[in-house]
Amino acid sequence: MTRRPIALIAAVAAVVMLVCGGTVGLPLVMFGQAQAEAAACEVPSVPGASPVPGAGRWDSAQSTNAATIVAVGRQRQVPPRGFVIALATAMQESTLRNLANSTVPESLSLPHEGVGRDHDSVGLFQQRPGWGSVRERMTPSYAAAKFYEALVRVDGWQRMRLTDAAQAVQRSGLPEAYQKWEADAEQLAARVLGLPSIDDIGGGAPTAPCGVDDLGPIPVGPGGWVQPLQAMITSPFGPRNGRLHAGVDMSTPDVRGDPIRAASTGVVEQVKCDWHTTCDRDGHTGARGCGWYVDIRHAGNIVTRYCHMIQRPEVSIGQQVPAGTVIGFVGNSGGSSGPHLHFEVHVNVRPGPYHATSSNAVDPEPWMRARGVPLGTRS
Ligand SMILES: [Zn+2]
Repeated sequence: MTRRPIALIAAVAAVVMLVCGGTVGLPLVMFGQAQAEAAACEVPSVPGASPVPGAGRWDSAQSTNAATIVAVGRQRQVPPRGFVIALATAMQESTLRNLANSTVPESLSLPHEGVGRDHDSVGLFQQRPGWGSVRERMTPSYAAAKFYEALVRVDGWQRMRLTDAAQAVQRSGLPEAYQKWEADAEQLAARVLGLPSIDDIGGGAPTAPCGVDDLGPIPVGPGGWVQPLQAMITSPFGPRNGRLHAGVDMSTPDVRGDPIRAASTGVVEQVKCDWHTTCDRDGHTGARGCGWYVDIRHAGNIVTRYCHMIQRPEVSIGQQVPAGTVIGFVGNSGGSSGPHLHFEVHVNVRPGPYHATSSNAVDPEPWMRARGVPLGTRS
């Protein structure tokens, strides 16, 4: 697991705040870099989850269900991000209450904390009969175990937006509905485990300081540039089908979901999915445009562009991004015939979005080579 000192400092600061009632500062100097590297992002042991009194907006019954969900995840050795996804899912499906269903008579005779009436769904995760018997689905530990079982089978779930991972399991009619619970679920997971932040054990979003293992910092070249993706060039810059292919395509056999990084320090100038193309799903050669993409403006009127991301990028417009920041993940959205990164470099781009065009695009290969980080190599 990648260790980064920032998380430790945050954790220490939080602990100090708890202990000293807000007097922060002194103990930080006690931690050298080596200790910080060793200690951050992993807590050797955490207190066992047990029935908890009401926590924040959640009453005792809801908090106890949350503790069960987390405990089952720990038993099954699910990475902590899974706890957060499971909690957010149960928050959306049942507000963390073990629900019977008015159209399922058997459910009303079992212990329950409310009555729903959505199809034949019951329990914390509103599971339908394919997930188990009524009694099983209304047993919180069983329902949570079935949820985790399905979650860990979703390819790349730890790198997905929370709602995409939850939706891959639940197949709900409202695929975006889980996302709004992310912060609540992170807080509740931390509360149940007695941690300042769930990211201290890697339960935060994929790009959080202790997020997915291989998303940590990477070396930046002497000119301040980094490869946006560690992959081979599969199609060069230049004329293609009577038009200019204004960037390079980069790919490897298993590239889908790999992190895409800001090629140099800058400010995010554009985050969007071209309206006329496909988003959040595989594109095709008949579609046009970039799909989900990001533009970053760098010093000296330089703009870089990153196309065909798998989902909504991890950054927002106006955000300052140091070189090497993970801005999104490789996908196949837009006019794209397979998962790859289409990477563009534009020069002399006047201020404002939409001014990076094919007329100011330059070949990224010699550009990056001149900055000491040739594309298409593994460094
Ligand atoms: Zn391309």
